[in-house]
Order: sequence, then C-alpha cells, then structure tokens
Amino acid sequence: MSILVLNSGSSSLKFAIFPEGQEDASVEGIAEQLNSDAAQVVIKRDGKKSETALSGADHKQALQFILEQLPETPRAVGHRIVHGGEHFTEPALVTSKVIDEIRATVPLAPLHNPGSLLGIETMVELYPELPQVTVFDTAFHQTLPEFAYRYALPEKCYRDYSVRRYGFHGTSHSYVSKAAAAELGFDLENSRVLVAHLGNGASTCAVLNGKSVDTSMGLTPLEGLVMGTRSGDVDPSLHQYLATAAGMSLEEINNMLNKESGLLGLSQGASNDMRTLRGLASEGNQPAALAIEIFCYRLAKSLAALCVATGGLDYLIFTGGIGENDPAIRERVTEKLAFLGLEIDADANANHGENNHGIITTADSPATALTICTKEEFMIAQLTAQTISK
Ligand code: ADP
Repeated sequence: MSILVLNSGSSSLKFAIFPEGQEDASVEGIAEQLNSDAAQVVIKRDGKKSETALSGADHKQALQFILEQLPETPRAVGHRIVHGGEHFTEPALVTSKVIDEIRATVPLAPLHNPGSLLGIETMVELYPELPQVTVFDTAFHQTLPEFAYRYALPEKCYRDYSVRRYGFHGTSHSYVSKAAAAELGFDLENSRVLVAHLGNGASTCAVLNGKSVDTSMGLTPLEGLVMGTRSGDVDPSLHQYLATAAGMSLEEINNMLNKESGLLGLSQGASNDMRTLRGLASEGNQPAALAIEIFCYRLAKSLAALCVATGGLDYLIFTGGIGENDPAIRERVTEKLAFLGLEIDADANANHGENNHGIITTADSPATALTICTKEEFMIAQLTAQTISK
C-alpha cells in the first residue's frame, strides 16, 4: 500500500507516490498554472515524462486527474506544510481542528499556507475516508531555545503577533542529519552537526545531539542566506529607506526581496540558477562571479556563527541541488571554514564523495564534511505512515 505525498501551492500541486518500503517515488509529477488556460499536469513514471493539458483546471480537477492516473488508491496522504507556527511540533493527523490551526498560521505565511490549505481541503472533500497527515517545515526547529528564537523586539510583538524565529526546511535538516549518522555510523545523540540545505531556497541549521538548536531562517523563509531570488538578511531599515528614497510600496519592496533579489538580483537578472551562473562566471561574467562569491561568503559566515550554538563542529552536511551537485561551492565554503578543522579532499569533493559515504574531507581532517541527498518527500511519506499507525 502506497503513500501519496502532496505539496500544494496557490497555483501548483507537486505529488509523489511512495510504495511501502521504497525510498524512491514510483510515480511523481506536478500540476502547474492551475486556474489558467495554460494549466497542465506533468507525470513522470518509469523514467518517462507525459504532459496533459487541463485548460482552466483548479486544484480539485487536477487532483481528480492525478488520482485517476495512479495504479491504486493510496493508503494515506502526507501534506507538506511550510508554516506550523508554535502549535505543531510534530506531524498531525488531519482533523477539522488541525485545519483551523493551520488557518490560524496564514497571516505568518501568506505566500505558502493558503495553497497548502487548499490542497488539504480538496483532498478531504474528494476522499473523506482516507487518513491524511500534515508534516511541517517548522516542526523540527521547535526545539530552539528561547534565546535563539526570540528577536530583540518589544515583548508584545511576540505575545500578540507571534513574531519570533521559526526556521524552515526542517524535514530536510532532520532527514539528512539522521541519514549522515546512519551512513557514517556516528551517534547523532552525541554530536555537533551543521547542515547547509542549498536549493532555490537555502538555509543552515545547527543540530546538537540530534536536535535543532539554531537555524538561519526566521519568521519567514526570507531571513538568512543569499538564495535563488531571495535576499536573505538585509538591514531592517531598508523598507523605510526605499519607501522614502525610491517611493516604493511595502508590497513592491516585499516582492523585490522575495522574487528579484539573491543570485538573480546580484547577477543583474542573468539567472537564479547556480549552474547557469557558474557557466557565465567561467566566461568572465563579473556580476555572476560576484553573486557566487557573496553566496559563498554569507553561507560560510552563517555556518561559522552556528558553531556558537553547537560549541564546535564534528560534521558539516551539504544537501539540496547546489549542496549535492556543486563541488566548487563546497570547496570555497569549506576552505573559508578551515579554522573549524575542515580539510577538503579535492578528488573526493570532485566526485561528491561518491566512493566514500559522501565524505569530501581528508581522512586526517579534524571535522568531517559530507554530501547527503535530501529526500524530503520520502521523509514525509515515512512520517505519514508512522503517524497513521500510532
Ligand atoms: P528546490 O529548492 O527548488 O527544491 P533544488 O534543491 O532542486 O531546488 O536546487 C536547485 C539549485 O540547484 C539550482 O540553483 C540549480 O542550479 C542547482 N543545481 C542543480 N544541479 C547542479 C549542478 N550540477 N551544479 C550546480 N548547481 C546545481
């Protein structure tokens, strides 16, 4: 019996089917541009890709179509939810109370949670009998101590408006730290681990004795590192300054920080994609080279800062599209962190540690850096199966 994993956004729906006991999806795909003429569903099965136009389809029509394509009705559904606020510290079986709690977090995650709610409510409407579980990106970080999650703001911001640092990518940070311990045979409960999850969104996490104790993202996924299109940290006075100096509205500034900044902004609009930027930089494109330099510098700075939370470093894990595939980024970052006891092994790094449990540092290196492929969707399937069997 399989588990269906859904990641529902405002105009898209990613899905993957995990047969019991399998780490790789048997069928996966995405419904895109929902509620528009260009709506379509792309399905990957047995290495083959098929596209079906579903002009004007909404979430319900797309889900009906997707479920008809599946070999069997799944045993349960696992929903990826970006923001669980302070309420959710672990996955939850969907009930009307859980849906209300997620609705209460919408003001904290207006870009993400409305789409997730739509996915849950549509599935409940279509398959009321099917057990459904919500898995939260924020849950793993609910172990942060108060001194790490509070901002230095008047207390009423926290008390009345829930303003605090939540952190995201928790499912990935949790999965790769467990997977690294299993792969290398170290005791996660007694270790100082840093994780760099580097995809289009990017965040770092300090995992001390198996628990998240600090992370780079905050109230929203905008805080912290330079990302594909997100700025990461800026001076909080920026909004006031740009509103006055450039006459920009709050909405325009927010849009710029989320969609036009990061690698895309620094490369003067060339690309938000690291592969493309690397190609441009190797041809002598200065803005692309600068974007990569700033990305690496800020990442190294964030990892070094997180060592305050762990009190030192045993393992540094690189994951996400860039972390898993880009040796040059790993080398640059690891070299900047040599003072933490990381000695890169150039050959092992060039082949992503493939012949060495993912390890990319030398045998004598006091601390170990490695690559681990994140499997967020598989982890959601696993957590879903565990939650419904409780
Ligand atoms: P998402 O956060 O959307 O899941 P991914 O984890 O797939 O993103 O990561 C996307 C990023 O990974 C892009 O910047 C892409 O260029 C980068 N990437 C993927 N493969 C490579 C590669 N071989 N070399 C460098 N960067 C890569």
